[in-house]
Amino acid sequence: MTSSKSGPPKSGPPGSSSGGISGTIAGDLEPCGTCGRSVAPRALFCHACGAAQPPRPLDPFTRLGLERRFDIDLEQLSKQHAGFTRAMDPERFAARGPRQQANAKAQADALHEAYEVLRDPIRRAHALLDLIGGTPAIGDEDGDEEIADLAARLARADDVLELDRIGLDLNQRVEACIKYLAPAFRKAQTAAAPDIPPVSDGAARILARLERLEALAAEVRSRRAARTPPRP
Ligand SMILES: [Zn+2]
Repeated sequence: MTSSKSGPPKSGPPGSSSGGISGTIAGDLEPCGTCGRSVAPRALFCHACGAAQPPRPLDPFTRLGLERRFDIDLEQLSKQHAGFTRAMDPERFAARGPRQQANAKAQADALHEAYEVLRDPIRRAHALLDLIGGTPAIGDEDGDEEIADLAARLARADDVLELDRIGLDLNQRVEACIKYLAPAFRKAQTAAAPDIPPVSDGAARILARLERLEALAAEVRSRRAARTPPRP
């Protein structure tokens, strides 16, 4: 096994520590619980006997057979999730007994969890940052004047029109952050070691900003929803 050049080995569950940029899975083969033949960690079922396998600890990208990158194709994500979930429909394993049915159900649950992580940009970014050995940035509330201004505007806002304007502003900035995260992650994933300070800090900073903006956007949404129409 060659050592990864993408950073120090991170502690994590077996099978998720390959640290590679994409594709190759370094996890160990495990014996099928039914026939004993070797099964790859991301295999849903044994290719020798067809038995549903229990889900192994895998990162969400690997679990759904997607390249580890921030700008995943969301349509492909949905397709992969739907296809794998169909293959693991517990009904298909009904004749094979309760253990395989339970395995299929656990696989479907694990697939769904991975899907939920990947379709949320913030959770996806955290998953990817973790995979490349990055450290989340500490949100610096006073460090970003623009966000401080938006927060102050939001604190002052007392009519629906102003709330909507702030919401629009926030959404545009959220979209921009999401757009900038893709190249920031690409840069971090292709950085030559040792990279000090870590190139992943760039992506981590954008992610922290995205979280602050998204928290403000959530506040706008909840305040907007709480507005009762004015009395005539
Ligand atoms: Zn088997």
